[in-house]
Amino acid sequence: MKTERVRFAPSPTGWLHVGGARTALFNWLYAKKHDGKMVLRIEDTDQKRSREKYTEGIREDLKWLGLNWDEYYRQSDRLEIYERYARRLVHEDKAYHCFCTEEELEERRQKALDDGSTPIYDGRCRDLSEEQKQEYREEGRDSVIRFKLPEQQPSVVVPDRIKGEIEFESLTTGDFVILKSDGTPSYNFACVLDDHLMEISFVMRAEDHLTNTAKQLLLYDALEFDQPEFGHLSMLLGPDKSKLSKRSGATSVKEFRENGYLPEALINHLSQLGWSSKDQQEIFSVSELTEKFSLENIIDSPQVFNREKLDWYNNQYLKQAELDRLVELALPYLRQGNYIEGELSEGEREELAEILRLIRPSLDQLEDLLEHDDLNIFYGPLELTEKAEDVLNWETTSNVLNGLYERFTTRESLAPEDVSSIVKEVKEDNDIGYKEVYKPLRAAVTGKVSGPEIKEVISILGPDITGERIEKALKNS
Ligand code: GLU
Repeated sequence: MKTERVRFAPSPTGWLHVGGARTALFNWLYAKKHDGKMVLRIEDTDQKRSREKYTEGIREDLKWLGLNWDEYYRQSDRLEIYERYARRLVHEDKAYHCFCTEEELEERRQKALDDGSTPIYDGRCRDLSEEQKQEYREEGRDSVIRFKLPEQQPSVVVPDRIKGEIEFESLTTGDFVILKSDGTPSYNFACVLDDHLMEISFVMRAEDHLTNTAKQLLLYDALEFDQPEFGHLSMLLGPDKSKLSKRSGATSVKEFRENGYLPEALINHLSQLGWSSKDQQEIFSVSELTEKFSLENIIDSPQVFNREKLDWYNNQYLKQAELDRLVELALPYLRQGNYIEGELSEGEREELAEILRLIRPSLDQLEDLLEHDDLNIFYGPLELTEKAEDVLNWETTSNVLNGLYERFTTRESLAPEDVSSIVKEVKEDNDIGYKEVYKPLRAAVTGKVSGPEIKEVISILGPDITGERIEKALKNS
């Protein structure tokens, strides 16, 4: 049985986009599912736009997402290969040197546009004589190598494993450049050579590459290479149903990472953008995805990248996360938010774990921890809201708080059940309802009338701090 080989081939001209991450994920799942290999190929031949920091960033983001690769290549290390094949095509009269200058091309392009026609290269350097070429060289003109499109341009059929066959009756492309004057290859040329030389069996990428695929098929023919299989994924859209762009908010994996999303939440959301298990299941671990992923269940319609849905996923995963991990993840935000300074003692770390366990149902992103009302309960500053002040002025409140104070402060520690039984005693002593006890207690301890489970809050704060706060509230009530 042949080994399935897939690839993710980003251009390092920006940080890893969530659309790219989705392509990487689907390829990775396909490789895992088929016991195949995943190739990461950095397409960095556009020297003007490629940046080393983006190559590093893409690698880091993929690792963070857990999308590891079996083989790694950079096209900039392979320039000789592309040049060799370009020369081979020239030698076989399937490509030619073109000496037209940028200015000349631009002038002709503009003219075509003015005439209302599609600007395509007119093929004027196709059949230059050796003397003409020599003359151009002596003039100091640079040359590019263009692919000679077949005279009778055939219609091109892209066999797509996701969309079915897609036919391009005529490609509105002239003889396109395969090697630029600086010796670097064009995307389509390098891509075909690499997919062939790296023995890629299945090329899965977004559908904005469909016309590229059609062009690439012509190159496969000219180079006499077997074609891999192809599959094109529908595009990711922003909430306004237009192409997902900066206008729709964060679009790079880096931003989501910095905002405090967990990789498994992003993976889970991305997995549902264009693939479905068809059984309403929404939460998938990576191993479940690997097991269930199949091309048959790919959804061939545009998908909306939905920030609210991502928040929902993240909240689900934050609620399940191991507390030790949560502490580690939360600390940078808590430090930045000035809740915590310096290193934590073992006890403080345990306390923080309890605090996070308590407040995590309200977290969508870890960045919410930069400023969070519930954290103020533990780290200050505590402010009394008007509603809380009203509660503290209830007629029954001072008796209640006195009763609570006496009982709490004689304890060494307060487990949530201790708080419940003390509240019950005070309620019975005063012959009032639970509300009349819990509300003032919460108002005194947290300064608010709503928030996280008060028994848990008190259990974390302990008898001393709880006592101090009740005493303070009694003075003010
Ligand atoms: N470098 C291309 C891109 O980032 C790769 C497309 C492909 O997968 O062939 O869009």
